[in-house]
Amino acid sequence: MANASIIDGKAKAAELSEEISAKTSELLERTGVKPGLAVVIVGEDPASQVYVRNKKRTAEACGFHSVQHTLAEESSQDAVLSLINDLNNDAAIHGILVQLPLPSHLDELTITQSIVPEKDVDGFHFKNIGMLTAGHLDGAFVPCTPAGCMLMIEDHLGKDLSGLNAVIIGRSNIVGKPMASLLLKANATVTICHSRTKNLPDVARNADILVAAVGRPKMVGGDWVKPGAVVIDVGINRIQVEVEGETKNKLVGDVDFEAALGNAGAITPVPGGVGPMTIVMLMANTLQSAERAAAR
Ligand code: NAD
Repeated sequence: MANASIIDGKAKAAELSEEISAKTSELLERTGVKPGLAVVIVGEDPASQVYVRNKKRTAEACGFHSVQHTLAEESSQDAVLSLINDLNNDAAIHGILVQLPLPSHLDELTITQSIVPEKDVDGFHFKNIGMLTAGHLDGAFVPCTPAGCMLMIEDHLGKDLSGLNAVIIGRSNIVGKPMASLLLKANATVTICHSRTKNLPDVARNADILVAAVGRPKMVGGDWVKPGAVVIDVGINRIQVEVEGETKNKLVGDVDFEAALGNAGAITPVPGGVGPMTIVMLMANTLQSAERAAAR
């Protein structure tokens, strides 16, 4: 039985993208500042290349100045840091993003922390993490995936989540933890679960808002979902399925979508839910950075 409304992240992202384009034109006309986004990719990871291409295409569609720096797999730590230093000092660039994961000989933490907080549109710098955790959202950059999830949650439940239980499965710095800070700021009662959590299905069944960010295909069963819950599926998993005797690749989330449809009040699909929202939030952060630079 399918009761849930499907949260169309793709359509919402397209709407937001148009708003960002309009604001970009207005900013350029008023101040002469054009938002600039630099994406740094090291190596040839095929999934990363797809993500970077999508980011570049969306930045161009929004009217941004968009540059991509592709460094060889064997690039040294100093070479990457030197490029970031140049971008930190480039007035035409308002957002810098280093595509993760980096090759294993590079120190991810040192590299991400070398981006100045004012251009850290991924929200990974400790200053931005600290501001988000302290609830000072105005001056911070919020990581793109949780920021996008939050907009979809607000569409269904409003901005004040007082009295609602939110359960997040996954405690990563990129998704789970910042998601918790945002939900807490909106007055939800927040539980973060992870690989060591006991009785996970029981905890999940208590959630009015259930966010799955694990990376395990269809781990969240339909009977984990409280009737009427808003379910946000962050997971992106590539699995192989048999279609008419042929093996095909398919993207699925961390939630068993078909099974959850009967219980959920609203649910994001994979693909077409969180993914497109993540990219557009990167553009929103870059525009915000350009607006702050213009005001300085
Ligand atoms: P991660 O690997 O950093 O974190 C995974 C988390 O899941 C960990 O905190 C771990 O404790 C928890 N976990 C692992 N096994 C578990 C289990 N059996 N039960 C409960 N918890 C368990 O991953 P991440 O970067 O947070 O990404 C999670 C998923 O979201 C991945 O599929 C990733 O591809 C996807 N993702 C999607 C977007 C998007 O834009 N849609 C963005 C970021 C990440």
